[in-house]
Amino acid sequence: MSKFLSPLYSSLVEYVPGEQPQDKKYIKLNTNESPFPPCRQVLEALNEKETARLNLYCDPESKMLKEALAKQYGVKKENVFVANGSDDILNFAFMAYAREDGCAFADITYGFYKVFAQLYGINAQIIPLKADFTLSADDYCGINKFIAIANPNAPTGICLPLAEIEKVIESNPDNVVLIDEAYVDFGGESAIKLIDKYPNLLVVQTFSKSRSMAGARLGFAIANEQLIKDLEKIKFSTNPYNVNRLTQLAGICTIENQAYYDKNAKEIIASREFTTKKLEELGFTVLDSKANFIFAKSDKISGEELYLSLKERGILVRHFTAERIKEFNRITIGTLQQMECFIKETENILKEKNL
Ligand code: PMP
Repeated sequence: MSKFLSPLYSSLVEYVPGEQPQDKKYIKLNTNESPFPPCRQVLEALNEKETARLNLYCDPESKMLKEALAKQYGVKKENVFVANGSDDILNFAFMAYAREDGCAFADITYGFYKVFAQLYGINAQIIPLKADFTLSADDYCGINKFIAIANPNAPTGICLPLAEIEKVIESNPDNVVLIDEAYVDFGGESAIKLIDKYPNLLVVQTFSKSRSMAGARLGFAIANEQLIKDLEKIKFSTNPYNVNRLTQLAGICTIENQAYYDKNAKEIIASREFTTKKLEELGFTVLDSKANFIFAKSDKISGEELYLSLKERGILVRHFTAERIKEFNRITIGTLQQMECFIKETENILKEKNL
């Protein structure tokens, strides 16, 4: 830290992304990316003619991309906001809607919520998930704070029924309730259909998971027009060109080829069920996931030992050190072939250690 850093940030604990090794080639099951490349039409669209236009700024309003998203979700363009990954939107939302008197989110959820709360000096009410890692909506009813809920949750993968989500939104009419649906396309139920009913509902999604675009950085929010205007105000006060030219184009092309991504999501769901069953046969406890990852632990081997042993064998999964979840690993669902390899290596590790 330099002597120049504002004291406001001296104790800030930054977010630590999952490993992105640039040297060795791993089977990467650690950051919930899609194992499938973007569709052929996206690859063709990002051609020489388009890259030659990188000397020009992109459309700061992302008009065509917003129109495509609005059509896909049956809303108006004015209900859509786009940004540089959904992290960008979470940042804007904490900046815009969380007041000093507080925000609330679960103890076990996406780690970035805590960082944003600290970044903006907002008191965070951290609400423990139940013993079985499900979220109790009642804990959030009428608490009168900005609320962020990941649904399905990460890293558990557990999904909360929409009726429960609705209770939270309805009982906090004076605060924004952000529903982070990064993983909704793998079996969850979106809250988008509730946006006309609740002016305080902000639904956030991403192109990083089911749409194979993690490296291009594209996230979007769908909400009441007034909330979208607030987010635009923040965006135009920070970085108006936050979604670059190639990403806007890739996003539009992705939406036009939704069938390819639906097929991939189906395949990932099937591989998730396969992997869950195999791990259970090996004695693991696997939480019920509606995401493109599973959260699993075994009484035979510690979370850390399994993570390190898999890494030695060229398979990366995500291990968290927080006390409540340190025996678990979060395993991204890759292709069926990758998951077969993961199961085989897990079996070998247990065998070699006589477990
Ligand atoms: N929300 C959740 C719950 C996530 O797990 C992630 C992925 N790290 C994000 C948001 C951010 O994704 P991105 O910025 O790539 O859209």
